Amino acid sequence: MLETTHVLTALALAKNINPPVGGPILAFFAGMVSHFILDSLPHYDGDNRKKELSKTGKLVIGSDIFVSFLVFLYLSVWGPLWPNFPDLNSLFLILYSNLNWVFGVLGGIFPDIMSFVGFKTGFAWPKWFFNLHKNIQKNKEIKPLPGLAFQLTFCVFCIYIFVK
Ligand SMILES: [Zn+2]
Repeated sequence: MLETTHVLTALALAKNINPPVGGPILAFFAGMVSHFILDSLPHYDGDNRKKELSKTGKLVIGSDIFVSFLVFLYLSVWGPLWPNFPDLNSLFLILYSNLNWVFGVLGGIFPDIMSFVGFKTGFAWPKWFFNLHKNIQKNKEIKPLPGLAFQLTFCVFCIYIFVK
């Protein structure tokens, strides 16, 4: 799945994992579990599981980051993410008092960060974690149109959960 989808899913989950029952650690694991569940669904995310990225792969990753940035801007200016945009202190304060958001998002992208580090450095430990991440999305690639339509719809739903 695309990072935008992972981040927004984790954020929507983290918003609802609050102390005393939930907290940052639980939000991290919820984000990570959501990552594996999303990756196990049929999806489109470019052709980015090879060492050398194709042109399409690069375009998809670039667009993914760009869309994430736009959503960040949207949630900052109109949403609850950054109360006194662009005052940096207000961003740090709200993140500090909502550490579950931060940890949730970290958990949501953690498997992909690990894979990225693995590709770059060859560091792949624990092995089962890398194998799980790789095997869970084997043959799950579908055509761009249905693949992206699903993620777009799902992202809008997650934004709704986060801002409501
Ligand atoms: Zn992944």
